[in-house]
Amino acid sequence: MEFRDLKRQYQLHKKEIDKAIESVLMQADFINGHQVGQLEEKLAGYVSVKHCITCANGTDALQLALMAWGIGKGDAVFVPDFTFFASGEVVPMVGATPIFVDIDADTYNISPERLEQAIQYVIQQTDLDPRVIIAVDLFGQPADYTHIRQIADKYHLLILEDAAQGFGGSIGGKKACSFGDISTTSFFPAKPLGCYGDGGALFTDNDEWAELLRSYRVHGKGEDKYDNVRVGMNSRLDTLQAAVLIEKIKFFDEEISLCNQAADEYNRQLCGIVKVPVVKEDMRSSWAQYTICLAESEQRNRVMRVLREEGIPSAIYYKKPMHLQKAFELMSDCGEQGCDTSMGICERCLSLPMSAYLSMKEIRNITSIISKLENERG
Ligand SMILES: *Cc1c(COP(=O)(O)O)cnc(C)c1O
Repeated sequence: MEFRDLKRQYQLHKKEIDKAIESVLMQADFINGHQVGQLEEKLAGYVSVKHCITCANGTDALQLALMAWGIGKGDAVFVPDFTFFASGEVVPMVGATPIFVDIDADTYNISPERLEQAIQYVIQQTDLDPRVIIAVDLFGQPADYTHIRQIADKYHLLILEDAAQGFGGSIGGKKACSFGDISTTSFFPAKPLGCYGDGGALFTDNDEWAELLRSYRVHGKGEDKYDNVRVGMNSRLDTLQAAVLIEKIKFFDEEISLCNQAADEYNRQLCGIVKVPVVKEDMRSSWAQYTICLAESEQRNRVMRVLREEGIPSAIYYKKPMHLQKAFELMSDCGEQGCDTSMGICERCLSLPMSAYLSMKEIRNITSIISKLENERG
């Protein structure tokens, strides 16, 4: 059994995907082929945002956004304490200081109350200039943008939506990647919309930022790539990946629906037995991960071990809170209020297999093993 079943997806759509790849091989324009612009148009339309700028991966996308805003030394950037490392890694990459913020105990997304406390802490007790909130749509559910936007407006901060996991999710029908001043996603194969290698994209309604991002992603180009008006990056999406994504986006909404059905079945079987994911009213998750929370860390490890013995993969996203990562040792800050919720979840969370191609029978097999282990605990 696969943790995220990419093989069944390919088997099902092999004909169209092979044809798309072959046409790039025949064209032989592996960089800047017409599929890249075509994909950007499709993605912008899908999200209902004016500009989509593709790039090499989701990490570069975050960094490019901070570069376009001129974030650097002396700036504070607020990042949830419970996320993939890249959400925070890009902050010191541009010379700024990450401030890690505790999460909501139900959604595992950044807590708006804790965010405001962290901003006040930075204003009152540091020399840093608060500039950006990186809000992550963790496991597929969009962050609480209603409250995050109120806070951003109050303190004049920019919102960078990290929708690497949230692409395909929505709030009241409004799609993920439309909530940030700039929003980003990743097309890493296991993400909700994955390509066959690395890939990423940025979204914004702002014309000036869009132009800057297009420059920064190709060596700070001016008129063309041999006219360099700023120091940038080499961060383009391959034509091959764009061609694959153009095919995959055609059945993407159907896959999100199937993932939601799989999550509903998991919930039905596990509700009352372990803590199941909480999706708030009006929110739709893209189910990048289906993550349960066990009573304690030994039980989490036992469930993981027994599943593995039965040939069922599971994964711990995430084992370590951001503020305890060695890489941030000398620069990070959690403010005064700490990150207790995040630390507790790291000890007890477990992500189960999730994909559009998971059968109800497979789900019931997984949930019956977990139920049995929970019963044995008494
Ligand atoms: C995967 C991921 C990224 C980075 O994306 P890459 O394409 O792997 O660079 C950033 N943020 C989050 C939350 C992610 O899950």
